[in-house]
Amino acid sequence: MNGRLAGKVAVITGSTSGIGRACAHLFAEHGACIVVNGFPPEAGEPVVEAIRSAGGSAAYCHADVRRSDDLKQLMQFAVDTFGRLDIVMNNAFCGHSTNAIEQTEEDWDDVFASSVKATYLGCKYAIPLMTKAEAEHEESAGPVSLRGSIINTASVHGLLGSTNNAAYDAAKAAMINLTRQMAVDYGPQGIRVNALCPGWIATDEHMEWVQSRPDQARRQQMIYPLGRPGTMREAAYAALFLASDESSFVTGHALVVDGGLTIQLQDSLANKIERSIREERQAEFK
Ligand code: NAD
Repeated sequence: MNGRLAGKVAVITGSTSGIGRACAHLFAEHGACIVVNGFPPEAGEPVVEAIRSAGGSAAYCHADVRRSDDLKQLMQFAVDTFGRLDIVMNNAFCGHSTNAIEQTEEDWDDVFASSVKATYLGCKYAIPLMTKAEAEHEESAGPVSLRGSIINTASVHGLLGSTNNAAYDAAKAAMINLTRQMAVDYGPQGIRVNALCPGWIATDEHMEWVQSRPDQARRQQMIYPLGRPGTMREAAYAALFLASDESSFVTGHALVVDGGLTIQLQDSLANKIERSIREERQAEFK
């Protein structure tokens, strides 16, 4: 079998669209069997079909990541369908985030349930399956051997504060430290746990929004040192590295994939904005 994930089985929550779907395709191209998950179930079929028609293996499993029983069944589905579980990407997200005063408790709970709690529960149910499958195949344990890779899709919002995003920023920050905590607990069992921290990744939904706001293209050019938001494929390649044994000595890490968005001092950003405003004014007077 060829590919960087040959022989591995991956569950990717929220893989019916966006970053998760891009990871499903890329991981499958690299030899992994994929459990596709997300809403609605009909959205899973095209992803599964595309992977199969490209020669890969995939199956859809319906699970609402806010529900404990669903997550338990999702992880078991991977073992029942493909015989083992090696990679889990806790990626699904739903809920509305705004400032603390306007944030409803219901939305706050939804944001935390679909991100922090789903990550905790996904790991709670996946790790015993990952360690059990490998232990059965190993004759002697020896030094810690790799048994699983967990990738938690956090965000640059988990590293910094932003406007009107109380629940989202808090939840993504919690995911990053939960990642570190579980990396400490489960490293001795050969489980690596890492977080992916994308900046703005241009999903279909985001592109629609940008196209409805022409000022956004110029804004993005200004705020990203690389001059643009990322593509879903670029986020997926970073996840592929974390999923594969190429990152065998990387655990508890928060991998930032943001085109340099969060490396700038605020004064350089302010200078860019000032320069841009000046140029716009000069253009108006010409
Ligand atoms: P998306 O809306 O395209 O994908 C979300 C996926 O989650 C979909 O497949 C959806 O069906 C699924 N989903 C939603 N609620 C679910 C639930 N309760 N149970 C199971 N599945 C559910 O979004 P995306 O932009 O690809 O985001 C994916 C992840 O990346 C999220 O965790 C998001 O916070 C994170 N992220 C995205 C960006 C970005 O710019 N796109 C940046 C940083 C972080």
